Amino acid sequence: MPSDSPHPSRVVPVLVPTPSERPYSYVVPDGMAVVPGSIVAIPLGPRLVAGVVWDGVTADTVDPVKLRAIEHLYECPPLTREMRRFIDWVARYTLTAPGMVARMVLRVPAAFDPEPPMPGLRRTTAEPERMTAARGRVLELARDGFGWTRSGLAHAAGVSVSVVDGLAKAGCFDEIALPPPPVAAAPDPEFSAATLSDDQTHAAEALCAPVEAGGYAATLLEGVTGSGKTEVYFEAVAAALKQGRQVLVMLPEIALTQSVLERFHDRFGAPPAEWHSDLSPKMRERVWRQVADGRVRVVAGARSALFLPFRELGLIVVDEEHDPAYKQEDRVFYHARDMAVVRAHIGGCSVILSSATPSVETRYNAEAGRYGHVRMERRYAEAALPDLKAVDMRRTPPARGGFLSPPLLKAVEQTLERGEQSLLFLNRRGYAPLTLCRVCGHRFQCPDCSAWLVEHRFRGQLMCHHCGHHEPVPQACPECGTLDHLVACGPGIERIAEEVVQRFPDARALVLSSDMLGGVKRLRLELEAVEKGDVDIVIGTQLVAKGHNFPNMTLVGVVDADLGLANGDPRAAERTFQLLSQVTGRAGRTGKKSQGLIQTFQPEHPAMRAIVSGDAQAFYENQIAERERGHLPPFGRLAAIIVSAASRAEAEMHGRALRAAAPAGDIMVLGPAEAPLALIRGRHRFRLLVHGPQRADMQAFLRRMITDAPRPRGSVRVSVDIDPQSFL
Ligand code: ADP
Ligand code: ZN
Repeated sequence: MPSDSPHPSRVVPVLVPTPSERPYSYVVPDGMAVVPGSIVAIPLGPRLVAGVVWDGVTADTVDPVKLRAIEHLYECPPLTREMRRFIDWVARYTLTAPGMVARMVLRVPAAFDPEPPMPGLRRTTAEPERMTAARGRVLELARDGFGWTRSGLAHAAGVSVSVVDGLAKAGCFDEIALPPPPVAAAPDPEFSAATLSDDQTHAAEALCAPVEAGGYAATLLEGVTGSGKTEVYFEAVAAALKQGRQVLVMLPEIALTQSVLERFHDRFGAPPAEWHSDLSPKMRERVWRQVADGRVRVVAGARSALFLPFRELGLIVVDEEHDPAYKQEDRVFYHARDMAVVRAHIGGCSVILSSATPSVETRYNAEAGRYGHVRMERRYAEAALPDLKAVDMRRTPPARGGFLSPPLLKAVEQTLERGEQSLLFLNRRGYAPLTLCRVCGHRFQCPDCSAWLVEHRFRGQLMCHHCGHHEPVPQACPECGTLDHLVACGPGIERIAEEVVQRFPDARALVLSSDMLGGVKRLRLELEAVEKGDVDIVIGTQLVAKGHNFPNMTLVGVVDADLGLANGDPRAAERTFQLLSQVTGRAGRTGKKSQGLIQTFQPEHPAMRAIVSGDAQAFYENQIAERERGHLPPFGRLAAIIVSAASRAEAEMHGRALRAAAPAGDIMVLGPAEAPLALIRGRHRFRLLVHGPQRADMQAFLRRMITDAPRPRGSVRVSVDIDPQSFL
């Protein structure tokens, strides 16, 4: 990689964390040498902020005398040319100011200065006047002449630190500075390779070849749940490590999928560095810094890990590539899976997209030959896939007031008798999604959102799942004042748990959901308890569907399979297919006979039929044909514009103005229409949908439309969502 030569000019462009379209110009003070990518502190208005020296020459014609100077050059590796091109690319594609994308890279300012060294001790030649057994052990250990930390040495010698301190006082140690410790030891590609089955060996070879060859390659790894995709992509990770390259493994719910990290540790003899929002600020700093200087070799992270400053990235793995959690819909709207492919392309490295149920887009790209396609159709070690059946809720309805049908209850009972575990899955938190008054019909709604309040009975609260508003469940109806006539409508997992406890009072039942008190720590413990078999019946939301291995789980019951089909989302069938395949895939992963029962009112729906028959091929063909007919992605392009404002009229008016500014051509604009979620946090929302042919320049069209429309005024805000995943 050719290194960037210093900027010849004394005035350089610096990308600053503002919504400005262009870098700003700054003077380089005498004696400071910056290159493109250098991270610097610059004055911006009254503040000092971090920015990146950018490529090219400044476009400004401002007299250098009037320009402000760079305040400080951080002692930090400059962002690589690939990273700078990636920032530019993401900015252009998502219609975001490049500085706002750079901001995602520069979010850890404390990491730009080198980590402070650690105080340490090294043995001198002096001998203590008085010798004890404890002192002897310490001196024996320190004889090698290497540096030790005070506590490390005491711990290793099995003595208290006061013994070490006493020896230091006696002149037996010099104080030295130790290099800061690595976040994780270097993973060893040869540490403990798995013995792969024939299928797995073929798959691993196909993934390793492009890594070894170097250069850009994208490969879809499509394998049924339990086929060993993780074991197989670990081989590609090993191949990249042997090439001396860094690796990024992206996981959709990393805070909760610790088992993957443990498996990594077992395979490579060291854990990967983690990157997600639950890290302490100190740890974030250390990881960022050590990724930048190359000491961290493998990162397992959430979508934001894509913006870490890798210097020699050789492979990106996107695990569960179809997962909706990869789409960020906040500030910068981006899809981390798609941007991972872009980053691999720019950096000339490999990217592996792994899933049992790939997104239609990825599946199509693989079929069209744009991505390599590696398949594994059998579970590892002869484990059979669960036997899947639809339970027709019209024919075998639950008893009055219940939500579990007789066939599902029977299956739970039999599973209990065998001493095995059941999972009842319902993707709805809380007790009931709607509460109303039986006397006057009053429904409890969020004051700031167009959403019903969800009762959370364990907490005794009515909660809004969009803004977090909550209020205690009242005794009397606030509308008509009648006491004790509120009814809960529909089930949430807490209500299913209630039914389970009634039906199976002796079973050990556990509710798993992201909003239970105790946060991630408690959830991890609970997941561990399930894995160990300390729980008989798990009632959970989608977080139990992701990547866990529960060896004793042999029954998965889907309480309401139709839930995701109700809204008008064009991806509803695909999402349902993916989620239900994933959740039923939790059953029977260690070879026991297992089953999945899917409660539905529409067993004839293509998504249900595809899950039950296991005929994914037919389902994808059907979905791809449907997309082609509708000119939807990947056969066409979509973008959404969301206009929000404090008043409904303002939002609608600006939406209309945008529409009126749309250039003529073959791109269509639909709307503005009031969003299905018309009110969030007190802001009124309107949506426009922009739909064009595959070859259309969507970004140019949107840019024209936004610049030609009047500037948003007052409380009006406009967000652009390229390739929208959500239509709410
Ligand atoms: P997937 O990600 O495809 O669902 P996993 O990689 O989680 O599958 O593998 C499923 C289970 O099978 C895991 O418990 C894993 O440890 C085990 N497994 C898969 N392949 C092997 C192998 N070659 N040797 C030992 N265990 C394996
Ligand atoms: Zn709300």
